[in-house]
Amino acid sequence: MKYALVTGGSRGIGRAVCVKLACMGYYVIINCVNNLQEALKTLELVRVAGQDGEIMVFDVSNSEQVRKTIGEWQEAHSDSFIEVLVNNAGIRRDEILALMPEDDWNRVVDITLRGFYNVTQQVLQPMIRRKYGRIVNMASVSGLNGMQGQTNYSAAKGGLIAATKALAKEVARKNITVNAVAPGFIKTDMVEGLDEEALRKTIPANRLGTPEEVAEVVGFLVSPVAGYITGDVISINGGLYT
Ligand code: NAP
Repeated sequence: MKYALVTGGSRGIGRAVCVKLACMGYYVIINCVNNLQEALKTLELVRVAGQDGEIMVFDVSNSEQVRKTIGEWQEAHSDSFIEVLVNNAGIRRDEILALMPEDDWNRVVDITLRGFYNVTQQVLQPMIRRKYGRIVNMASVSGLNGMQGQTNYSAAKGGLIAATKALAKEVARKNITVNAVAPGFIKTDMVEGLDEEALRKTIPANRLGTPEEVAEVVGFLVSPVAGYITGDVISINGGLYT
């Protein structure tokens, strides 16, 4: 059995990634923090794709929850290991910096960066021991270019990209690749409330992307043929580079 863990797998891009990984033959561990109902729907889709999976509830920013939940799974599966990790969980709380509440800064940075640290550290040791692993971090065009009204989100995603590059260098010899994907605007709950018509005008492709399109990039990066790509960031944004 090949195991993959997708944080924030209950909805949006994470759900599409879970289904893609199932199509690639992975048993998928679907993480969520609140929406068990949506996570169950993802699990159903994983099963429709011909594989099995399970739901793992934890807040990626809570180190104790992460250690306990993944740790218990690892103890129960000592003959196996999570060979694919997709750090996808994320939130946005947009506001110009001058008006941004401290909690909005902290939550966005915590979920993205502390979340990356908590989950990756927990699954990395077994990857190192087995000399194989694929880690994909869900960044954003905001992390590459910076986006006004999103200093918290841009800082978090920019930090995630830097962490991707640093970790890639640390573990390359262990046959573990670490890459990031930087989507532009993708049609999920996260962009709900934004003016889609106005957004489309800023995107050269004149449309939002789909979660499935992002999942295809993740699928490529975790595939064995992508073993020589590491420390990289792949944009998927319909031409929206600035
Ligand atoms: P979404 O539809 O809002 O889904 C967010 C997912 O993250 C949900 O599964 C949610 O779980 C999970 N999550 C949130 N906080 C969590 C926490 N503390 N611990 C564990 N899971 C948590 O968002 P999305 O659009 O699919 O975004 C997925 C990733 O892509 C995010 O990192 C986002 O920043 C990035 N991204 C999105 C876009 C876009 O345009 N949509 C563009 C660039 C980058 P629950 O269902 O339990 O709440």
